[in-house]
Amino acid sequence: MATNRTFTMIKPDAVEAGHIGGILNMIADGGFRIVAMKLTQMTVADAQNFYAIHKERPFFGELVEFMSRGPIVAAILEKENAVEDFRTLIGATNPEQAAEGTIRKKYAKSIGENAVHGSDSDENAAIEGAFHFAGREMF
Ligand code: UDP
Repeated sequence: MATNRTFTMIKPDAVEAGHIGGILNMIADGGFRIVAMKLTQMTVADAQNFYAIHKERPFFGELVEFMSRGPIVAAILEKENAVEDFRTLIGATNPEQAAEGTIRKKYAKSIGENAVHGSDSDENAAIEGAFHFAGREMF
């Protein structure tokens, strides 16, 4: 059975700009329930591991530096069809291509500093959630 959970991060650019509240409101209005949530910061090694799938890409170094430069909000969210619906809510990777009404359209600055992460599959949602949370932190 497909899981109804996804994993998200409010990235350092959006935390620095004071957008935690605005983004959490959009997540709640989108019908997602918060299963786990915390303010945390990834080390360089954490970011390298989290984004290991992108390690051959030209932007990898920049991405690791960006994602480890300050606090993030990590969260696990629950909803019917969570992974796909959350990808719709956040919008395209490049905010210039993100649809009206999406989180990235409203808050992202660039293709790199794009305000939020959303898992791209049920399998990755489970892996990414477990990367940040112990079982007793999920409700
Ligand atoms: N990214 C980047 N430059 C690019 C493409 C992606 O810096 O040309 C960063 C961006 O922060 C993005 C992350 O790498 O969110 C992961 O890329 P992916 O293609 O998986 O996009 P996403 O699933 O986050 O929309």
